[in-house]
Amino acid sequence: MSNDQYSFEDPRTRYPNISPEVQQQPEPGLQSQMTPVPDLGEESYRGTGRLTGRRALITGADSGIGAAVAIAFAREGADVALSYLPEEQEDAQHVIDLIEAAGRVAVPIPGDITDAAFCSELVQRAVDGLGGLDAVVNVAGKQVWKETIEEISDEQFDTTFKTNVYAPFRIVKAALPHLQPGSTIVNTASLEAYVPAPDRLDYATTKGAINNFSKGLAQQLVKRGIRVNVVAPGPTWSVLQVTGGVDPETLPEFGSSESPMGRAGQPAEIAPAYVFLTSGESSFVAGETLNVNGGMVTP
Ligand code: NAD
Ligand code: MG
Repeated sequence: MSNDQYSFEDPRTRYPNISPEVQQQPEPGLQSQMTPVPDLGEESYRGTGRLTGRRALITGADSGIGAAVAIAFAREGADVALSYLPEEQEDAQHVIDLIEAAGRVAVPIPGDITDAAFCSELVQRAVDGLGGLDAVVNVAGKQVWKETIEEISDEQFDTTFKTNVYAPFRIVKAALPHLQPGSTIVNTASLEAYVPAPDRLDYATTKGAINNFSKGLAQQLVKRGIRVNVVAPGPTWSVLQVTGGVDPETLPEFGSSESPMGRAGQPAEIAPAYVFLTSGESSFVAGETLNVNGGMVTP
């Protein structure tokens, strides 16, 4: 493939500077109904065997960043268990088809990760379906825009934490008995962990928590030969943004005003960071946050 992730291009123009029309769907939304549809690397991601034989559980694997990671992992030779919500089956099927087209096993596990019992069940079903587990990738997330703190209900605050913080905590705990030395965990923070948007207080707080949790956990688990790292994306075009994630009126400028590259990222551009942190290439990397945000400076 000539135009794959290894081609050298001007990063500012490698992907178009989209100016999305104002659009809105109820949570969790279907990526297939977005305009434009995010790029998951379907046409561009080229695997080179970097994850051959790995067995990975990926949450939020139906759409956006998690879906791009699932496609990339399969093309790198991994079998993949996919976590997503039942309402997202249509988006999930697109990813499952691509995993199978890559000659790998896809294990679909729809269900709600805010449910503690489901988190344990998810891991068990992944282990059963994959014949073991070597990689846990927590990508699922909830983000709901509210102008003021008064508008954030207790219920929203709670569900955002249950999805973004409790679920990875529970999934990691359930997965640990299955993870042998050499296994990896990658969690998903955000630029918001460092630069909280004032209209996403609860969300940004969870992202700071994920980053901190991961760095502490990394120190603990490195003693068992398990590496924990974090990917912190910047503004990336995904269905999260059009399901109440940001002020809908700001969608036409999504990403372009913030990022030094003058555009939002595509999920396809975030996925290689997860591949790196899961592959043996990153054998000396633990407790690290890899920022993939178009050049925004972080601490
Ligand atoms: P996305 O909507 O495509 O993916 C989020 C996924 O989370 C959904 O597909 C859904 O399957 C899953 N999810 C949410 N609640 C769930 C629940 N209760 N049970 C099971 N699954 C649930 O959006 P995305 O932008 O690709 O988001 C992926 C991750 O990237 C999130 O953690 C998000 O915070 C993070 N992130 C995104 C951006 C961005 O600009 N898009 C920036 C920084 C970080
Ligand atoms: Mg989805």
